[in-house]
Amino acid sequence: MSKRDYYEVLGVDKNASEQELKKAYRKLAMKYHPDRNKGDEEAEKKFKEASEAYDVLRDSEKRKRYDQFGHSGMNGGGFGGASDFGGANFEDIFSHFSDIFGSDIFGGAGGSRGQSRRRRGTGRPGSDMKLSVSLTLEEIAEGVEKTLKVKKHIKCDSCNGTGAETESDFETCPKCNGVGEIRQVSRTMFGQFVNVQPCPTCQGEGKIIKNKCNKCSGQGRYKSKEKMKVNIPSGVAKGNYITLRRQGNAGIRGGEPGDLIVLIEEKEHEHFERDGNNIYYDLMISIPDAILGTEVEVPTLKGKAKVKIEPGTQPGKLLRMKERGIQGLNNSGTGDQFIKLKVYIPKDLTDEEKKHIEAIRGESHFDPKSAEEREKGFFSKIKDVFQ
Ligand SMILES: [Zn+2]
Ligand SMILES: [Zn+2]
Repeated sequence: MSKRDYYEVLGVDKNASEQELKKAYRKLAMKYHPDRNKGDEEAEKKFKEASEAYDVLRDSEKRKRYDQFGHSGMNGGGFGGASDFGGANFEDIFSHFSDIFGSDIFGGAGGSRGQSRRRRGTGRPGSDMKLSVSLTLEEIAEGVEKTLKVKKHIKCDSCNGTGAETESDFETCPKCNGVGEIRQVSRTMFGQFVNVQPCPTCQGEGKIIKNKCNKCSGQGRYKSKEKMKVNIPSGVAKGNYITLRRQGNAGIRGGEPGDLIVLIEEKEHEHFERDGNNIYYDLMISIPDAILGTEVEVPTLKGKAKVKIEPGTQPGKLLRMKERGIQGLNNSGTGDQFIKLKVYIPKDLTDEEKKHIEAIRGESHFDPKSAEEREKGFFSKIKDVFQ
């Protein structure tokens, strides 16, 4: 099934402001919210669709990526971020409910779910990582699989990320009695305030480790040099990036791993200059070749190819080799290779060579003025015929 455009889903235009997005999403979410449409699958689908669209467009980085690459920019396989949004990640949708709806529009759904999310799972999330990969035009032209060497935290295999030697090495945190929070009540002249903070002893986990894993000293992760493969599609450009979900640093004690963000750089090419999906090549030919025509071999992104130079070719002429450029992103078509012709004017000639040139200096076909005259004569003859 093809996915609908996110802007279309929200019914806003591409330049919609943050406020407009928020308003549009709010309207749809109110209409299709599961609490109001119990058992209505169509409504639930609409609700998820709108939430997914909003989740991407509200995040300026994700929005930029979506604008640039469309849905395929969002797929987990290579590009993107929102791929595993479909349903399992419902809590993430609710996590930004409260900032949109306030606390009580859906009977406190925002607030209470936010709370349950914070207590969900154990450990602390790992951080995102960024690294760049430099590509040749040949690699960009067809896409490439790259192997990256990454130094990152990986989940400890000895304790399976728990940080404890054995399953039974956990005990309930004595400070918070397993709640994971510390409540402090303060009385002021305005009344009683309750301040809730994560427990500093167990970092909000509600349990502590009696016997820490030797390999990771209780962290549940350790630093390692990893080799990772990343598939880079054709047509990418400097400044694009690919997000590998959950491939960043492992979390502490079973926390969610971060993302690995791969930034694209372009290597300079010895022959070509790139303009979008087209490439340009400067070709220098000799004076006789420009006058008499010839066939020359030129480099392309896929090896050498022959081009025909017509007799009487002027300097600056642009020759086009169709579809010899870069295969565009998302099958957006293949660019061309252009050849800019330059004619080489020699400087140091032998006496013998000078003699040859001298001999043709006076020839009328080498004299631009008489050439001009000849052309005028030609056109006036045509005029005569038609008058
Ligand atoms: Zn361990
Ligand atoms: Zn505690």
